[in-house]
Amino acid sequence: MNSKKRIVSAAMGIAIAAVMIFVFDEGKKEQPVYRVEQGKVFGTYYTIRYEAASDLKDSLSAAFAEFDASLSMFNPRSTLSAINANRDTTTDAFFESMFAEAERVWRLSGGAFDISVAPMVNYWGFGTRARESRAATTEAQIDSLRAFVGFEKIQLVNHRIVKSDPRVMLDAGAVAKGQACDVVAAMLARNGCTNYLVEIGGEIVCRGVNAKGEKWHIGITKPVEGTSQHQSLQEVLAVSDLKMATSGNYRNFYYDKGERRSHTIDPRTGRPVVHSLLSATVVSSSCMRADALATACMVLGAEEALDLIRRANEEDKAQGSETACYLIIAQGDTLNVATSPNWTIN
Ligand code: AMP
Ligand code: MG
Repeated sequence: MNSKKRIVSAAMGIAIAAVMIFVFDEGKKEQPVYRVEQGKVFGTYYTIRYEAASDLKDSLSAAFAEFDASLSMFNPRSTLSAINANRDTTTDAFFESMFAEAERVWRLSGGAFDISVAPMVNYWGFGTRARESRAATTEAQIDSLRAFVGFEKIQLVNHRIVKSDPRVMLDAGAVAKGQACDVVAAMLARNGCTNYLVEIGGEIVCRGVNAKGEKWHIGITKPVEGTSQHQSLQEVLAVSDLKMATSGNYRNFYYDKGERRSHTIDPRTGRPVVHSLLSATVVSSSCMRADALATACMVLGAEEALDLIRRANEEDKAQGSETACYLIIAQGDTLNVATSPNWTIN
C-alpha cells in the first residue's frame, strides 16, 4: 500500500468510526427513558415523572417562572400582586384563563367559591399577613370586610382588571396549583411526551402509563390531622388519563382560643367553614377546574357539594368531558365516603 492509499483508508476508517459513533449516539438520544423532577414551587412540593428522550428541566423551569410571574401572591412583581396593589398592569394569558374559570365556578357555586375572598383570607391569617388572634371577631368587623369581597366587584375589560372598590384583592391559591399542573402537562405534551404524571402540592394531571407500562397509581390521602409526612391512604386509583385535585381542612388549620380555623373561608359568612366534610377530591376537564371545584366543595359541605358537582358535570358533559367527586366525611370517629354517581374510577 503506498502512502496515499494508506492515508485514504485511514481516513475512511475514521469516517466509518465517526458515523458509527454518531449512529450509536443518535440511537441513545432517541431512546426515551422515564425521568423524575422534584422540588419546591409556589410554597409546596412537586414531583414530575415523564418519558422523554432528553430531560426537560429547562422547559420546566421556564414554565414555572412564567406562571410565577403571573399568579404568585408571594412574588411582588407578579400580575396578581400588581392588581392587588392597584398598579396599572395588563393581564396575561395565565391570569385570564384563571379568571375565566374562577368566574364559572363562582357562578356555579352561588358565590361559595370566590377569588376576591383575599381580604378575608388575610384577616383569618392564611394569606400574606401574619396571623393574629381572632377570637373576639365581631359581626361589624366581618361586615367591613364584606364591603370589598365579591366577584361582582371585579371585571376584566380589555386585558385590565377594573375594580369597583380599590380595596378588592384577589387570591388565586385555590386554583393555582391545579392550573400549574395543566401548564406543565401542556409543556410535556408540546415536547412529544405521551406518558407523564405531574403532581404539584397534591393536584395531579396524568396521561399514558408508568415506567412499568401500567396505569399510574394515585392515592387519595386519608384526612387525618397532623404532619403531611407518612400520610396513609384512603384509596389508590389506577388511571391513565386524569386531572384531579383534592382540598381538605385537615392540614392547613390552627386553633384560636379553642376554636378551629381552617383555610377555607366562606365568603358569604366571612368566616372559616366548620362542617363534617374533611376532604373533597374532584376530577374534571382541567386540573384548574378540579382545583376550584374541590375548594368550592369544601366551602359548601357534603350535601351541597354533590349538587354542585352534578351541575358542573352537566356543563362538562356538553363539552364532551366529565366532572366527578369523592368526598370523605367525618361521622363521629369514622370516615364515610360519598361520591357523585359518575365516580367510576378504581
Ligand atoms: P385549596 O387548597 O385549593 O382548597 O385552596 C385553599 C386556599 O384558597 C386558601 O388557602 C385561600 O388562599 C383560598 N380560599 C379560601 N377560601 C376560598 C374561597 N371561598 N374561594 C376561593 N378561594 C378560597
Ligand atoms: Mg382548590
